[in-house]
Amino acid sequence: MSHTTVSPSVYAHNDVKRSLNLLYFDKCYICENDISVERYNVEHFLPKKHFSHLGYSWYNLHKACEGCNLAKEKKELLIRDEAGDVVDISLLDPSSEEYSVNDYITFDHNGMAKTKDVVGNADVLGKASSTVLYLNGGTSSRYSHSLPYLRLLRIQNFTSFCVDNLNVFKQRLIELKVPDVEYEVPLNAELISDQKLCQLLINVDNEFLSKEAFFSTSTRCILYPLLKVTYAELKRIKTKMREALGL
Ligand SMILES: [Zn+2]
Repeated sequence: MSHTTVSPSVYAHNDVKRSLNLLYFDKCYICENDISVERYNVEHFLPKKHFSHLGYSWYNLHKACEGCNLAKEKKELLIRDEAGDVVDISLLDPSSEEYSVNDYITFDHNGMAKTKDVVGNADVLGKASSTVLYLNGGTSSRYSHSLPYLRLLRIQNFTSFCVDNLNVFKQRLIELKVPDVEYEVPLNAELISDQKLCQLLINVDNEFLSKEAFFSTSTRCILYPLLKVTYAELKRIKTKMREALGL
């Protein structure tokens, strides 16, 4: 099958788009930018131009912004064999069942991507390096040049939210994060304070940290430096407070 016969009316059918929306929400699955307002592309992780036999494979279909979709055609992100045929893409696959992107890539407090110091398969490590290069604007993709700036803006908004609203609750969060301790509803002023904290945790999770929130992989990386709780701890605190406080 030639790639020109891979029909968008099939791979980008509304049923496919609905299913991808359930998986990826309003985000691009590569850069995590918000694509709620643009018409998004159903993206072939392995480009249909070179992998036409995967044109309709569910595992090869994802939700991507136009910038990331076009970037994968850049020659520096194509892996070729000795005969010059494209055999793979030099980007980590966020849907891979063999590895988790989070084991290979993290973000610093400015939203710059970094490879983690891990021992792993050389192919995956190579892809991790070029994914970091792409996310930091180091490839010829023009779209990727804006990504560090977009993530930095997001991180600045998240930091302001934490400093303005949650900094005063830092000590309370440290008390509440102790595992296996039941949450006890306090009385009077402390109850009001806990209700406020719980509502703030709900808001910060929805807005900046949840899997639905855009660029949440990078905001989660700076949560601990800001508030001394990990995302897993924050979610656990939020859940037990919500149940007890009925929020
Ligand atoms: Zn993207």
